[in-house]
Amino acid sequence: MAGHRQQRPWIGKTVAAAAVALPAFDPACYLCPGNARVGGAVNPRYQTTFVFDNDHPCVGADAPREIAVPPPPYRAEPAAGVARVVCFSPRHDLTLAEMPPAAIAEVVDLWRVQTRELGARPEVRQVLCFENKGDVVGVSNPHPHGQIYATSFTWKTFDTERGAFERHQRETGRGLMADIIRAEQGDGRRVLHEDEHAIAFVPYFARYAYEVYVVPKRRVAHVFELNDAEVSSLAAALSAVTVRFDNLWRMSFPYVQVLHQAPTDGGAHDAFHFFIGFNPPLRQPHLLKYLAGPEIGGGNFVSDTSPEAKAAELRALAAVHYKHT
Ligand SMILES: [Zn+2]
Repeated sequence: MAGHRQQRPWIGKTVAAAAVALPAFDPACYLCPGNARVGGAVNPRYQTTFVFDNDHPCVGADAPREIAVPPPPYRAEPAAGVARVVCFSPRHDLTLAEMPPAAIAEVVDLWRVQTRELGARPEVRQVLCFENKGDVVGVSNPHPHGQIYATSFTWKTFDTERGAFERHQRETGRGLMADIIRAEQGDGRRVLHEDEHAIAFVPYFARYAYEVYVVPKRRVAHVFELNDAEVSSLAAALSAVTVRFDNLWRMSFPYVQVLHQAPTDGGAHDAFHFFIGFNPPLRQPHLLKYLAGPEIGGGNFVSDTSPEAKAAELRALAAVHYKHT
């Protein structure tokens, strides 16, 4: 933590806020209902959510099964899987922040169905669900959507988390996330939202200024293990967090949202506690957190802000979206 650096002089790049009002339907959008996509497929006139196989998949059926063996010390394995796109809403102009919690629950339900279905495939070892939101994280189409990569390999972040969950369980007999939730409740300053089944907080160890965890209180390893009441609570928490994000600077707030789930490799994964992490790249309205020497070179994050101060900013905001007041 280096919170004293927030006010240091800055003459670098700033990010202009796009205040352009979007239409509810865009005839040129490949994600809007009834429109044609690049491959020629036509989207159905969907009413809630819609999922389809990515027309430009990162992992897909066409990947090479045989790859040339490289000289040592290099190793290579084929990567297989499925890449899908998830439209969160038929409305081109609605992000999660502006969707009612009941509509967000439809998105969580779709994550449940997709993780269960894709995770059951014998070749799939992990299902990665995520949302890249905003120009600054490289998303050109504002239509609210996320992606799913179901892969024959596991992802490093979740491997690290799995190791930490298992080590804590072994050493203390307790769940790591249960202990984190207790610590956040005990301090209270970083908690943004809480109800019977879910809690949202800026973690004590936040790397990004406005990093937020949204966590179901009952430990499950995968989103599909949540019951309907827990899905409703999780959706309410996602709404509470994304509304405050938008209210912070009265703009559509960019972030990378990731579902942290255990592998679907048939293992027990009894220690893994599913949660959703938000990684927003902005630390001031038009100022990006750059990953540079310490992060890319040294491999450790230097946070320019204090998590308590940033949580206080979010906690002070209205729970109603600024466009709805
Ligand atoms: Zn659209």
